[in-house]
Amino acid sequence: MPSPIVIAHRGASGYLPEHTLAAKALAHGLGADYIEQDVVATRDSQLVVLHDLHLDDVTDVALKFPGRQRSDGRHYVIDFDLAELEMLTVFERRASGTARAKYPARFPADTGLFRIATLAQELQLIAGLNRSTGRAAGIYTEIKDPLWHRRHGVDLSKLVLAELRAFGYSRGDGRAFVQCFDAAELARLKTELDCRLPLIQLVGPEPEYGELLTVAGLRSLSAHAYGLGPHYSQIVAAEEGRRPRPAELARRARDVGLRVHAYTFRRDDLPPYARTLEELLELFFVDAAVDGVFSDHPDVAVRVRASTRKVQ
Ligand code: CA
Repeated sequence: MPSPIVIAHRGASGYLPEHTLAAKALAHGLGADYIEQDVVATRDSQLVVLHDLHLDDVTDVALKFPGRQRSDGRHYVIDFDLAELEMLTVFERRASGTARAKYPARFPADTGLFRIATLAQELQLIAGLNRSTGRAAGIYTEIKDPLWHRRHGVDLSKLVLAELRAFGYSRGDGRAFVQCFDAAELARLKTELDCRLPLIQLVGPEPEYGELLTVAGLRSLSAHAYGLGPHYSQIVAAEEGRRPRPAELARRARDVGLRVHAYTFRRDDLPPYARTLEELLELFFVDAAVDGVFSDHPDVAVRVRASTRKVQ
């Protein structure tokens, strides 16, 4: 694999509704090294590829299944069987609780051409494209909220690992990563579930990850994790009016042998210190020297990687 790796975040989600097979096929065609799938379970313990535990911001569930929401007004994947989810139409993501598109310049939010995909369907698609194009894209699978699933009687990690194994992803050969925000679950994947795939600990700027990001926390994480998946703002120090510098965390992670795969690089959501996505990516490829990026626009990341190599 080239370095830094480019992970298509929810597929080529900058161009097509996230996590649809179309977005995954486009990501493959645009040259992403890895294609991401977020996995949640249905009431009948089937695995589907969706970012949220609920269906409200990317489907027409409220229209098709009136009265099936919980008291918070949301319709949860775990309350529906796969056969029901297959009746839904998937749209471009809306800003939560509104009818407006979250990213207005993206695929038209009222064009309903897409369906929810199962994990098996997505893995079939990627395997098929790897064969027909001769270009081997890897997979990058997130186990979504394992604690929530356990509370509903589902061992999500176990189900996901079994499905990945069925598609030939069981070795640490770089064809597949597994990622999770839940630190205890990530350790369990290695120790209890004997997962050989490289594990990525996702973290955010929230205080709950503070302990994990100390020198001691990272050292203990490195016993079972391959790398860290922080938000990009966590690995640069940005002072107003100055070019951001790599922050302490990036070095600390590297010192204990953890790779750094940062999220999420998108053209339509830039920090104040970058004018374009290209400029932002260059900063992280060159100055922060990340080992991988999650991007909604994987073609841009592939292109910037090629051009920054030339100037180095
Ligand atoms: Ca994800």
